[in-house]
Amino acid sequence: MEELNKDVQYVKGIGPKRAYKLNKLGIFTLKDLIYYFPRQFEDRNNLKKIAQLDNDEKATIKAVITGIETSSPKKGMTLTKVCVKDETSSAKLVFFNQPHIKNAFRVGDMVLVFGKVKKSYKNVELTSCEIEFFTKSPKNTCKVMPIYPLTYGVTNKEIMSIMKTVLDSEELKIKEYLPINIIKKYNLCSIDYAIKNIHSPQSKDSLKVALYRIIFEEFLILQMGLFLFKSGINDCKGIKFNKNENLDNIRSSLPFKLTKAQSRALNEIIDDMASDKIMNRLVQGDVGSGKTVVALLSLANCVLNGYQGALMAPTEILAEQHYAYLSDTLEEFNINVELLVGSCTKKQKENILKRVKNNEIDILIGTHALIEDTVEFSNIGLVITDEQHRFGVRQRSRLSDKGKNPDIIVMTATPIPRTLALILYGDLDISIIDELPPGRQPIETIAIDKKKRERVYNNLVRDEVQKGRQVYIVCPLVEESEAIEAKAATELVEELKSQYFSDLRVGLLHGKMKSSEKDNIMKMFKNKEIDILVSTTVIEVGVNVPNATLMIIENSERFGLAQLHQLRGRVGRGVHKSYCILIYASKSEVCRQRMSIMEETNDGFKISEKDLEIRGPGEFFGTRQHGIPELKVANIFKHMKILKLAQQEARYILGEDKNLNFEENKLLKNEIFDKFKYTLEEISLN
Ligand code: ADP
Ligand code: MG
Repeated sequence: MEELNKDVQYVKGIGPKRAYKLNKLGIFTLKDLIYYFPRQFEDRNNLKKIAQLDNDEKATIKAVITGIETSSPKKGMTLTKVCVKDETSSAKLVFFNQPHIKNAFRVGDMVLVFGKVKKSYKNVELTSCEIEFFTKSPKNTCKVMPIYPLTYGVTNKEIMSIMKTVLDSEELKIKEYLPINIIKKYNLCSIDYAIKNIHSPQSKDSLKVALYRIIFEEFLILQMGLFLFKSGINDCKGIKFNKNENLDNIRSSLPFKLTKAQSRALNEIIDDMASDKIMNRLVQGDVGSGKTVVALLSLANCVLNGYQGALMAPTEILAEQHYAYLSDTLEEFNINVELLVGSCTKKQKENILKRVKNNEIDILIGTHALIEDTVEFSNIGLVITDEQHRFGVRQRSRLSDKGKNPDIIVMTATPIPRTLALILYGDLDISIIDELPPGRQPIETIAIDKKKRERVYNNLVRDEVQKGRQVYIVCPLVEESEAIEAKAATELVEELKSQYFSDLRVGLLHGKMKSSEKDNIMKMFKNKEIDILVSTTVIEVGVNVPNATLMIIENSERFGLAQLHQLRGRVGRGVHKSYCILIYASKSEVCRQRMSIMEETNDGFKISEKDLEIRGPGEFFGTRQHGIPELKVANIFKHMKILKLAQQEARYILGEDKNLNFEENKLLKNEIFDKFKYTLEEISLN
């Protein structure tokens, strides 16, 4: 039996030369090879008589060769026309630059031909032809053909022939790893059958059976992995928080009434906190829907019960902002809020840590500094992570490790469809804030060619500033380096100051600045001492300055839709009409499509769905961050029903055998660990 993790170069029929090409396709082991699935399939089963062929269709015919002509219409080009006929009519097969055809076939040969039909008044031609001698088991016609994703230097035929050699080999028997009862329960074919039929389908039906099995398996493994590694479905007892009437006092001290959606989310949280089950809740709300105040009241509920709370934000700017808001609001209720960020001095930090440990601090707010080992709480009861899509799995779980089963809330403004959320965060309960506070006007979004940038500066920007409003200009995203991004931002500020806005107050904010500088700039912007804030994406999440009404995003084609939506969410936070200008420098169809989605809708749920469709889940969530293995055949949108079945089954299996130690689950466990290698590396390295 062949070892699946064997280097492809040592597989019979491959050798170093072919192995080198395969490596370029990301194929290193035998397993990589047999799991290198076709991108699509071409049905060459459509066997027709010549007289029945339709113009433009792709079809296969069986015919006899009646003549072969070659000519050279241009220098360096050979044109071969093979005349064929069957019982019904005759046709010509057209080949460009394939002179060998003339020697390979003769008049009188019976052949099978697959090609594209060009039909005119007088004659029928087939182009892009595959031709082979008629046999009982044809290789390139009369069947469903796999079409592989390829790179330069490797042809589809070559991959097909490699696959054939490998899969026909007596030694190769792919061992089943799904438990037999699952195979039976869902009527799945064996993995051996699935792999063989995906690479060389016996028929359309057998291909379907094969694909079904792979889709089910991909979803099952994904779901089980997510349950196993991310959530650790737990049945430990959590804390019971009683409802405290002081919470109503805090609530009525707010300058506004909660929206219905906020109230509903808050009630769900409070009820959940009152039970002795550990809360694991995802709060999804569009940008500006008012998640912070829900977090504030939840934390207050925790503190009123005598426990400590923690709030973790992805950036210092956001942590500062939360700190200012929570400490202001909660001070009069004797709730002690403190801020711990990377830029605290050693002394400040020591002092905070001591007080946290002695239970002198009720709510600790911070960035990832909160998950450092030195932070020890006295009795933590609730941990909230804001903008959770910015944090890795590991960071979240480490914060909750700090207490004895604290309740957990994660908040995100990159909403994803509920069905999807259930898959990715299958263990979480979900609250949705699907309503904006009253009085908000939709943000008007306009995509504009880079050439018209000056007009935006000279008109829109000036108008808004004249009205007393403020403006954000976001610089292009530079993936590789915060330093280059900072440089670009600095240059833009210079350009704006010297060419357009010498009379206005232009500020600069980027990730390379010291936090005290950043704070200072944000404070000035809040206090209306800056008219135009030029920034990198450090302002992407959470920042709240209601007087800002114009968001300009340079090179907006470089951002993902969800990210554009986040950035746009920095405006439209107050009562004034707000605008978002997306400046683009690309003429591509995809760019156009994306810009128009942004122009058409302000609904984050819709946007993220579109984004997911365009980019696929891996990229959307950042495979790295989420450790989600690639789905090769399965598609979350197309195969939702299978996904639900797989999810149910995953729950069931883990319900019976939490750590997959039963004998029948051992091989499946190996597969899961193999697929989630990356996630595991991330966890064990740190
Ligand atoms: P996000 O959900 O994006 O985190 P925030 O919590 O920052 O939104 O809230 C956005 C703005 O809306 C803030 O200025 C906040 O004070 C305000 N706000 C929140 N809830 C309400 C409400 N019920 N009525 C009026 N304004 C609200
Ligand atoms: Mg927020």
